[in-house]
Amino acid sequence: MAEPELVDVVVVGLGVGGEEVAGRLAEAGLTVVGIERDLVGGECPYWGCVPSKMMIRAANALAEAHRVNELAGSAQVQPDWAPVAKRIRAEATDTWDDKVAVDRFTGKGGRFVRGSGRLDGPNRVHVGDQVFQARYGVVLGTGTRPSVPPIDGLADTPYWTNHQAIEVEELPASLLVLGGGAIGLELAQVFARFGVRVTVIEAADRVLAAEEPEASALAADALRADGVEIHTGVKAGRVGHDGDTFTVHADGAEFTGEKLLVVTGRKAHLDELGLDTVGVDAGQRYLPVNDRMHVTRGIWAVGDLTGEGAFTHIAMYQAGIVVADLLDHMRRTKGGPDASGTASVVGGAAGVVSAVGGAMSAGGSTAAPGSVPVADYRALPRVTFTDPEVGAVGLTEQQARERGVNVQVGYADLTSSARGWIHKTGNAGFIKLIADADQGVLVGATSAGPAGGEVLSALVVAVHAAVPISQLRHMIYAYPTFHRAIEDALRALK
Ligand SMILES: Cc1cc2nc3c(=O)[nH]c(=O)nc-3n(C[C@H](O)[C@H](O)[C@H](O)COP(=O)(O)OP(=O)(O)OC[C@H]3O[C@@H](n4cnc5c(N)ncnc54)[C@H](O)[C@@H]3O)c2cc1C
Repeated sequence: MAEPELVDVVVVGLGVGGEEVAGRLAEAGLTVVGIERDLVGGECPYWGCVPSKMMIRAANALAEAHRVNELAGSAQVQPDWAPVAKRIRAEATDTWDDKVAVDRFTGKGGRFVRGSGRLDGPNRVHVGDQVFQARYGVVLGTGTRPSVPPIDGLADTPYWTNHQAIEVEELPASLLVLGGGAIGLELAQVFARFGVRVTVIEAADRVLAAEEPEASALAADALRADGVEIHTGVKAGRVGHDGDTFTVHADGAEFTGEKLLVVTGRKAHLDELGLDTVGVDAGQRYLPVNDRMHVTRGIWAVGDLTGEGAFTHIAMYQAGIVVADLLDHMRRTKGGPDASGTASVVGGAAGVVSAVGGAMSAGGSTAAPGSVPVADYRALPRVTFTDPEVGAVGLTEQQARERGVNVQVGYADLTSSARGWIHKTGNAGFIKLIADADQGVLVGATSAGPAGGEVLSALVVAVHAAVPISQLRHMIYAYPTFHRAIEDALRALK
């Protein structure tokens, strides 16, 4: 085995979170080794957010064209998957090639190593036959992979995960979707709008089970209107594949489809990271971190791996905290870099620390000593990009009640708002507000509708900054916007 090479920081996994941390630390002048075994950028740009939203954009254009018939004459629509597949290949993923991303990182001064990184004691990482010893710390950003349930027969079939669904060049005639969460519903609606016969099978008693029941009902109605068959409360017991067709046996029923997409959640693979060598239990579902993303001495984690929410915006938010904290830690480390390195590196570090700290505390996070922000997930926004979109922030009504909040609920239907009525076809949606009556603030909200994810931003500010409800009621809401329904929901709080 090679002698360990001394560097400042090692980042294992260059997905959204790891790439952000590694790039910013390299820009700050540290010697940073970034290790990625697959594609720099991770799931989001190649098999997640970006290509799926390109698919949704295309599918929504088809749906909007169909609405012409009710509003503006007649339109003939001939769906064609080829331009969608081409755009994903050419514009989103460079045919699943990360040269641009690797160059972006090395252009910032980072050193890139392709391979699987594994801890081997405090601050030491193996990758292939190389060993790196990190002077200041190791950051783990290894994300998650699809969690495939142990259903009898499933592992022996050529089922799809999100990877095959995103890479598909020619659509199947029919598709079974196992899992009615956000990813399952988004992809189900896209494929249905391109003419695929889609069946969603969900074990919980409703789709989007983590969101408000009203959101589940709205999304299910919308997908059914697009021709999607939805079966809830149905647990798949066995899966078979005869070479052409998948069969899912569930609670006495049988569902068949040309392809089977499994989107039943994600799993962190902690056992691959050598965590036992630093005294951390690798048998957990996620890697617990404190509010500065520390796992244990000298190790930070960022992104999906931490289990704080599987969203790109969480990974980016946490990355800002890791960068600030690591630079702060470096500044305080006794016997840090030598005098020549200290001046520039610490100078750069201080700049980044105060810049990040300032930005975060202006946004409401509590700044810890040394102006390093700490994580605050109270106002975590999430959007399911179905049509209508379902945006949500903070607590659902049930979560708030379970936490003993003195709950008030305000609900407004979008279809009866001025803008909803004008919009007509495609206007389904609602605003639901969850208030803490004792504190006089909102602790959660759902904004569903044609621009549900965008309207959500006002509600995120309200929850994040704990804006008094009395002030929200005395704001001016532009007429006739979708977000004006927030005012109706505030009036309905009881
Ligand atoms: C279909 C789909 C749609 C999505 N849509 C959205 C959306 O609209 N909005 C949103 O916010 N989020 C969305 N997400 C979630 C988003 O993609 C993730 O939250 C985000 O990618 C998490 O980033 P990450 O850095 O934690 O991990 P990842 O992106 O998973 O990256 C981790 C990286 O680590 C690498 N790695 C793992 N182990 C090792 C190792 N030992 N050594 C070296 N490298 C390693 C992996 O190869 C990977 O590249 C979507 C996800 C999917 C699947």
